[in-house]
Amino acid sequence: MDLRKKIRNIPDFPKPGIMFRDITPLLACPDSFREAIKQIADQYRGRKIDAIAAAEARGFIFAAPLALELNASFVPVRKPGKLPFDTQAFHYELEYGVDTLEIHTDAFQEGEQVLLVDDLLATGGTMNACVKLIEQAGAEVVGCAFAIELSFLNGREILAPHECFSLLTYD
Ligand code: AMP
Repeated sequence: MDLRKKIRNIPDFPKPGIMFRDITPLLACPDSFREAIKQIADQYRGRKIDAIAAAEARGFIFAAPLALELNASFVPVRKPGKLPFDTQAFHYELEYGVDTLEIHTDAFQEGEQVLLVDDLLATGGTMNACVKLIEQAGAEVVGCAFAIELSFLNGREILAPHECFSLLTYD
C-alpha cells in the first residue's frame, strides 16, 4: 500500500512558498490510516512504552490509536488554558515571540517511558518543546515518531540524541 499517495500536496498554504502536506485523504481511508498506525506501532512493539504523548491538534490524531495499539496511556500536550486540572508549562522561543505548552501535573509517574508523536516533523521546534516538557515532568523520552518528515529542514538534528522515526520522508 503506497501511503504517500494518500498525502495531498497543497502549494502556498498557509503562506506563499510552503508546500502543505495534507493528511486528510489518509484519514479518510480506514485501510490507509490503519496501515499507517500499524507501521508506526511495528517500530516500537516489544519495547517498554508506558505513555504516548502528543501536542494538539494533529498529533492527537496519530497518538490516540497508537496508544491503544501499543497498550500505553495517552497524554495530551496542550496550549495554555485548555487543561482543566493543575498544569505544568514549558515556554519556548519561536521565530517571533514565545509559545507555551502544558501538561497535567499528574500526567506521568517518575521515570515513565514516553513515546512522543506528531503528524509531521518540520524544524523540530514543536517536538523539541514536547521533549523538554516531558523531561521536566520527570519522565523519559524513548523516541519521537512522525507520519511525515520534511528532511531538508533537519529537524532530527535538534532532537538528537533522541531517536526519530518517520513513515514518509520528503526531501
Ligand atoms: P515544526 O515545529 O517546525 O517541526 O513544525 C511541526 C508542526 O507544524 C507539525 O505539527 C505540523 O502539523 C505543522 N507543519 C509544519 N510544516 C508543515 C507542512 N509543510 N505541512 C503540514 N503541516 C506542517
